[in-house]
Amino acid sequence: MDSLTAGIALILVQFCIALVMAGVFYTTPSEKCTKYWALSGAWIAFGVLIAIVNNRLHRPAFILNGAGAVMIGLIFQWHGIRAFYKKAPHKWGWIICIAFVAILAMLFMLGANFQQRSILISSTVFVLLGLSFHAIWQGQQGPPKTFVQALVLGAIVLLMTGNVLRIIIASLQIAGSIPLERSSFEIAVAYMIPTVGTVLFSIGLLLLYFERTVEENRHLATHDELSKLLNRRAIVSAGEYNLASASRLGHELTIAFIDIDMFKHFNDKFGHAAGDTVIQEVASILQQTCRTIDMVGRYGGEEFLIILPGVNRDAAAIVGQRLVDAVRQYRFMGIHPVTISAGLTTLPKTELCTWSQLVRRADAALYEAKGLGRNRYAA
Ligand code: GH3
Ligand code: MG
Ligand code: MG
Repeated sequence: MDSLTAGIALILVQFCIALVMAGVFYTTPSEKCTKYWALSGAWIAFGVLIAIVNNRLHRPAFILNGAGAVMIGLIFQWHGIRAFYKKAPHKWGWIICIAFVAILAMLFMLGANFQQRSILISSTVFVLLGLSFHAIWQGQQGPPKTFVQALVLGAIVLLMTGNVLRIIIASLQIAGSIPLERSSFEIAVAYMIPTVGTVLFSIGLLLLYFERTVEENRHLATHDELSKLLNRRAIVSAGEYNLASASRLGHELTIAFIDIDMFKHFNDKFGHAAGDTVIQEVASILQQTCRTIDMVGRYGGEEFLIILPGVNRDAAAIVGQRLVDAVRQYRFMGIHPVTISAGLTTLPKTELCTWSQLVRRADAALYEAKGLGRNRYAA
């Protein structure tokens, strides 16, 4: 393979990446990362094109512009990754770019040869890829946890390795250990690794983007925005599933219906916004008081439903008391007490029970707790 073919392949790949990312950005303009990645693809394609054209026209000084454009593309790539993880662009990118162009211009003026310039270009690309690697590593908080995260980091490592190889080859050529002509291995390192690495990197970034979008939508569909708990649909479907499984396997199951006491009065006194804060804080107390296998959901306005797998009638009384006590200790703004009433019901061992029957019984127990004066449980 000659350098022209390999270079054109790299340009086409980058151009396609720019188009795809621009298309994704067009559908969701609020996500700035795809805009940066589209700009990145365009700048890298443009930079490689300028470098190839000027190389063929034997105007090495103009390659400066091409290399500068590639660096701008890599900085946009890094900024895109930062934007993906909700971080602002970092000024270091542009400082590195300006320093790079200044040093490269100086090397040209000092009459540095292709190998010396190549070392500078590869080192700068290495540093910028390192920044992208660091941004992803930080964003995902450590080693990759999914295949897509591993793919993206693997692609960056491949690209960085390519640059290390270029530095080694250029250094050996300067030292006279290997001939100055560009071997096919060198062309493969200079063009094939960037092409393959870029394809994998960009596919990985797109998959990372879609993976998060799917996860966010799934979360939105199953969680309540205010309390951050499971929403009514999700808690009911979890309840139906747990009931079917407990009935089939003969396991214990308890559900608890919780309602904040005199909440209308609280809203009237402190305002709706304060009421919302109480809903959030009570939700958090309930969640913290339960075990990790329990499921806590917001059933309606200031009503919560908790599914307690494996909890029998005796344990239900302990859980009920614990929930009521936990909220009783809470003070809104450190002063105003808030209480709840809880109705608990345990799946009967001998008779079959449907989900709506179970809920109705928990609701009746809650009604009983309210009737007995609130700030208590009934089971
Ligand atoms: P009780 O002790 O009998 O439960 O008295 P209560 O006043 O709490 O009565 P009820 O449970 O019927 O009142 C529900 C009130 O909760 C009515 C409504 O103003 C308030 N509420 C419902 N959803 C929200 C919400 O999302 N935010 C706020 N701030 N208030 C809500
Ligand atoms: Mg209510
Ligand atoms: Mg209430």
